[in-house]
Amino acid sequence: MEAEEQATTASGVTIVRTGCCHDCGGRCVLRAHVKDGKVIRVETDNGEQPQIRACLRGRAYRQRQNSPERLKYPLRRIGERGEGLFEPVSWDEALDKVASELIRVKETYGNSAILFFRAGGSTQGMLHGPLPITRLLLYFGGFTRRWGEVSFEGSMYASMATYGTINSGNSRDDLLNSKLIIMWGWNPAVTIQDPGTCHYLSRAREKGIRIIGVDPLYTDTMATFADQWVPIRPTTDAAMLIAMAYVIVTENLQDQAFLDKYTVGFDKYKDYLLGREDGIAKTPEWAEAITSVPAATIAGLAREYATTKPAALIAGWGPCRTGNGEQYARAACVLTAITGNVGVPGGCAAGFGRAYSSRETTWRRGPKNKVEEGAPPRQDSLYKLRGASNPTSGRIHESKLGEAILEGRAGGYPADIKLAYVGDFINCGANTTFRAKALQSKSLEFIVTHEQFMTPTARYADIVLPVNTFMERNDIAPPWLGAPYYIFLNKAVEPLEGTKSDLEICVELSRRLGIPEAFEGVNEEGWLREIAATRNDIGDFDAMKRDGVLKIKLPEPIVAFKKQIEDPENNPFPTLSGKIEIYCEHIAEWGNPLLPPVPKYISPPENYDDPLAERYPLQLITPHPKVRAHSMWHRVPWMREVEPQSVWMSVRDAEARGIRNGDMVDIYNQRGRVRIPARVTGRIAPGVVSIPQGAWYEPDEEGVDRGGCANVLTNSNHSPEGSPTFNTSLVQVELSPESGGSAS
Ligand code: SF4
Repeated sequence: MEAEEQATTASGVTIVRTGCCHDCGGRCVLRAHVKDGKVIRVETDNGEQPQIRACLRGRAYRQRQNSPERLKYPLRRIGERGEGLFEPVSWDEALDKVASELIRVKETYGNSAILFFRAGGSTQGMLHGPLPITRLLLYFGGFTRRWGEVSFEGSMYASMATYGTINSGNSRDDLLNSKLIIMWGWNPAVTIQDPGTCHYLSRAREKGIRIIGVDPLYTDTMATFADQWVPIRPTTDAAMLIAMAYVIVTENLQDQAFLDKYTVGFDKYKDYLLGREDGIAKTPEWAEAITSVPAATIAGLAREYATTKPAALIAGWGPCRTGNGEQYARAACVLTAITGNVGVPGGCAAGFGRAYSSRETTWRRGPKNKVEEGAPPRQDSLYKLRGASNPTSGRIHESKLGEAILEGRAGGYPADIKLAYVGDFINCGANTTFRAKALQSKSLEFIVTHEQFMTPTARYADIVLPVNTFMERNDIAPPWLGAPYYIFLNKAVEPLEGTKSDLEICVELSRRLGIPEAFEGVNEEGWLREIAATRNDIGDFDAMKRDGVLKIKLPEPIVAFKKQIEDPENNPFPTLSGKIEIYCEHIAEWGNPLLPPVPKYISPPENYDDPLAERYPLQLITPHPKVRAHSMWHRVPWMREVEPQSVWMSVRDAEARGIRNGDMVDIYNQRGRVRIPARVTGRIAPGVVSIPQGAWYEPDEEGVDRGGCANVLTNSNHSPEGSPTFNTSLVQVELSPESGGSAS
């Protein structure tokens, strides 16, 4: 540590090397300026390259840290669930109540009646956050958990099915080895996906590397870096990728030598492309009618991608969050293989995209979950592959938690839920109003949450336990997808009086539950040292703590599957065939027409061609905002100033409805109604409207949401392999009454 940072300056300011770690796609260096026990300023990494620089949310953290709205004592509900009426209680009273309810529910109904669901956005350290709760409940005999990663289930499935692993990413520095970068539904200026990503995109642009973006939105990343924007209709990405494959194959532009050596099933995919299977050739004209992208653009991009080598097709996760979204992710993986861009510097295998991190190896999570013991693998899961995503049938899909609470085993779910230990359940899941109803159900006997603010979900809890922030405790932040580093989050200030860490709460609960062994004998630093010791790349714990960051120097960029390509005899792909599976036999065995063994375009319910589009003709997408990590930062004034919540709509769609920029509008469908300002812009494809996810649900007396909660409008379906369908929802937009409309 530099001398000036160790010492308190003459003005009484101490600079603490810490970091930011939320579920946002980054993990970043922060330097907290502390005076009189308070964070008064936040800087970021100004040190050696590659810098791990914080985004605007991390830089604004002091407003969140010092917010007068922070919860300062445990709360017990005294009104109806959702009403927001609470009374303060002592920690002993609150913890006694939580412990007694856990014991009562376990003894009355069994452990499966306990649901633990952490929602996105919360702290993602290797120690604090949801991990201590998981450990507590595992020692307590288990609990019901969810499956279906809302962020990336489709990409995970495609990676596993095609490559047998989710480690399909190259490190970001490898972008400089590309000759062409295609950003497909990928907006790292907002979703970050490693803090250095935009640095390397900037350098790629300076180097003259051509960058093309395919997206319904002209995103910030696109506006900054792209040479070309290809607007596309949501939920139809697979059709465009398949048509690109058609062009490549019919013009003999594929890398046949690569296909022969490293893949299985190309001929079967060709049968689908050429229409030998279903009589429909997957031509650019076929795709134009589906995607609204001109056939000439599709064919041109296909030729450019196939003939510019190496090229990186980076398939973002957003287009997966659609009905049948896994087909998009599979089609992208297969296209990278057809063009021979897998395992080569400057290429990209698409898929999940992990390059370096292994966040799973954090700490000892505790015993196996007894609730899941003996449950057979979920039908249609890739259970034969090591690391397949949550294959047990003992779990409930994340999108269906509301239904599961209301219907239980009688509705076909694996448990009758009586106690919910939850994060921001309401904002971060689809069909918010329905979820709120589920939390109001009398069959759900107890709800507890750890929170820093009175979130929409906390309003429904029976007990709210106030937790401290990462500025008030020590933790290690693991790297995200591709970057080789760790952040040590040094405690910068004492915890806000009245708050505790997740770990402290769980230690105290473990004693009350008669399972002190769950956390016995080790303090916070002990746990952190043990976690660091499980990693072979953290050599010097004390140096990492002192510096607040450990940057790992790699001799060369990480390129996924390099070994498999350079020496296939000794390094088979970890699939069942040992090769890249364009045709996946494991999937074929299921015989499920919605999960074909080669990627296919299958139009799902609530797509643009659903008859429902006559009533609700606009397609809603719910991208990540730059001012929140899911629902976090919602109450931070600077963030609200930077980007007030609004609905983006095209000039064409606005004019057709008499809507001008800034008018209050109602966005509605069969599930609910949201009233927020319209932002009329050329940065969105006609026929599409966009509400960034995560804004807090604030229903008025008539049930109209005034907070801009996009999930009021999304549906709680999931695709056959578990992708949530946030981006496949139909809506209508009209002027709201306060802008002269008459709510229909
Ligand atoms: S919100 Fe995420 S990307 Fe932004 S500073 Fe924090 S960790 Fe980094």
